[in-house]
Amino acid sequence: MAFKKSVGEMRKAWKLPKTLRILGRDVAVSLVAKGPMVASQEYGEADLDDSEIRIGDWLCESRARATLLHEVVHFIDDDLGLGMSEEQVAGVAQGLFQALRDNERFI
Ligand SMILES: [Zn+2]
Repeated sequence: MAFKKSVGEMRKAWKLPKTLRILGRDVAVSLVAKGPMVASQEYGEADLDDSEIRIGDWLCESRARATLLHEVVHFIDDDLGLGMSEEQVAGVAQGLFQALRDNERFI
């Protein structure tokens, strides 16, 4: 008898993607230690010029996922020329992250 995987099991199986396609742009995703993340002291950073997202390797899975989405919003903001502030990026990313987490069947 086959059992459907629980959300917990699916979450355990999650791995940081190596690349993402964001609005047609291929973006590399890498885990980095604190040292190389020179641009900020944040959990991650979006390198818009080199099409790379860097996520801190010390983060728990939940924080890594939220940070990844935050950096994706930075790419969307940049590519569409929205001119979002850091607070707007953070708010949209947090809201999207929670909506996606709280609605398993959304995607
Ligand atoms: Zn940011």
